[in-house]
Amino acid sequence: MLSTMTPGPTSRWYLRSVADEDTHLGQWQADGTVVTRCGLRFPLKSCNYPGLEGEPPDPDQKCRACGGQLIVVGSLR
Ligand SMILES: [Zn+2]
Repeated sequence: MLSTMTPGPTSRWYLRSVADEDTHLGQWQADGTVVTRCGLRFPLKSCNYPGLEGEPPDPDQKCRACGGQLIVVGSLR
């Protein structure tokens, strides 16, 4: 099932850690990292592969720089 997920331009929320304001809106890159809207780059962890399906369950986890405006995840199927 995971083999159907590939890196691409779709923006999703990714957990960099479970701390508050450390879930970022970003794009999964072909090199296995996530580049976030606020300018971070971090390795994609298995725990958040391949990103959240929607909003983080806890709003306090959202990075403020990333979360100022939600980019609606497009259906690129
Ligand atoms: Zn961020």
